[in-house]
Amino acid sequence: MRFLIPLYLVIHLATLSFAQDNAALKRPKLVVGIMIDQMRWDYLYRYYDRYEQGGFKRLLNEGYSHENTYIDHLPTVTAIGHTTVYTGSVPSIHGITGNDFMYQLEGKVTYCATDTSVSGVGINGSSGQMSPKNLLTSTVTDELKLATNFRSKVIGIAIKDRSSIFPAGHFANAAYWFGNDAKWGTSNYYMDELPAWVKQFNESSLADDYLKNGWHTLYAKESYVQSSPDENPYEGAMKGMNKAVLPIDASILKKNGRGIIRDTPFGNSYTLDFAKAAIHEEQLGNNKNGCTDFLAISLSSTDGIGHQYGVNALEVEDMYLRLDQDLKAFFEFLDNKIGKDEYLIFITADHGASHNNPFFIDHRGGGGYLSLSQERLNHHLDSIYHSPALVRSLMNDQVHLDYALIASKGLNLGNIKATIIDYCRRLPGIAYAVDMDRAGQSTVADPIRRRIVNSYNFKRSGAIQLVFDPQWKGGSDKQTGTGHSAWNPYDAHIPLVWMGWGIPKGGSSNQIASMYDIAPTISALLHIQEPNGNVGHPLSFK
Ligand SMILES: [Zn+2]
Repeated sequence: MRFLIPLYLVIHLATLSFAQDNAALKRPKLVVGIMIDQMRWDYLYRYYDRYEQGGFKRLLNEGYSHENTYIDHLPTVTAIGHTTVYTGSVPSIHGITGNDFMYQLEGKVTYCATDTSVSGVGINGSSGQMSPKNLLTSTVTDELKLATNFRSKVIGIAIKDRSSIFPAGHFANAAYWFGNDAKWGTSNYYMDELPAWVKQFNESSLADDYLKNGWHTLYAKESYVQSSPDENPYEGAMKGMNKAVLPIDASILKKNGRGIIRDTPFGNSYTLDFAKAAIHEEQLGNNKNGCTDFLAISLSSTDGIGHQYGVNALEVEDMYLRLDQDLKAFFEFLDNKIGKDEYLIFITADHGASHNNPFFIDHRGGGGYLSLSQERLNHHLDSIYHSPALVRSLMNDQVHLDYALIASKGLNLGNIKATIIDYCRRLPGIAYAVDMDRAGQSTVADPIRRRIVNSYNFKRSGAIQLVFDPQWKGGSDKQTGTGHSAWNPYDAHIPLVWMGWGIPKGGSSNQIASMYDIAPTISALLHIQEPNGNVGHPLSFK
């Protein structure tokens, strides 16, 4: 009797299993990642009232924002940021420890994406010799490829090579970046010849068309109330300009050559134009083989313009208002081409930026300049250890030591590190000087200690991490524009907004999130394996 199953239940179970057998796994047709280089989180709101419907406002109102997303590594720079977003990992594991880093045992400095075993395709010289060779882990784009037996298409696009190459991963169909003359190219790591559509795009007059009207403000200058007056002492002028003011005439842009587009807001427009062409020509997201494709875009002009003019500049405000319009048009393109809610998009940044130092000091906000140099440190060490070149570099805010020299002279590494730490921690502007090997036990505020540990890769990082007081910088007291590299919120608090397939509309969360949570969140949404160096957690959308 007890084996007798009621008839209605048999039918119900049969229908259920029938439904399960036939329903394909649901994934978006296309994932689009847009990294906005140097975009501080607060830019979402600083200019909110001036954004139009359809750009940043659409993202926030139709998408989901993780409002408190932070970078958990040091230094906060482009190569590490892009790599961390796409690997869900940290420099300690993924190995990209700076834009440039030093192979410690050999004392050899390398650019992060340099690969001398490859050559440029459509890009001449060393700017074409790039690949993801130095990246030690897989990316979420790699995992998508593995999950679909390499049937998904993955393409990376950015003016900066590193911002295209690392997001696109090891298995990418292509990663495109800029050559000197603003022509898109790649390396023979990916292909031996540019596709016809890329050649055609490069031969078009589009870049010149953008430049031929110069850079004028979108609106009357008086309306830029969120920025300093256009003419002020804190901004750097473009080559050929004697002041950092708008407009910049077409004749100045022309004199600088076509490549100057990267230092104007049109660099963003031009990148998104190329992204649209890639979607169209490579049929990304057409879903013919049932596989999700991935387009990893990074907008680099936001960083160049930020560096040049600084956080409080009218030029930066104007650029974001223009980017807002470009994003609106790009989302509309995706709606039409892929279908609304058929694509998953996320927007984030590789790092933020601090205020210009003289600006901050003049407004009595504090901060200052650190006068520490490699020479000064070596001079001090020489007076004790009678060896004048123990420090190889201070790159990435770290003290890099010549381990081979120390060993050959029979010097005690621990003593040398202690001497350096004692010397540095007494300097005004230094918050901490931390022995990387002992960072876990150091008396350092928790979020900073975690960031140091996350970033320490023995073979690729310096021996001692220097942490500055807030708004302290190395270099001269005349500096214009801005920079970034620190743990502080101005450099480390980034936007993270999702929209489209699988994303609830109009939500936000103040939960603390990390940059390295982005890749595992994408993995969870797509039901694919997380990258092989992942340390992040999938974020919730509640
Ligand atoms: Zn930068």
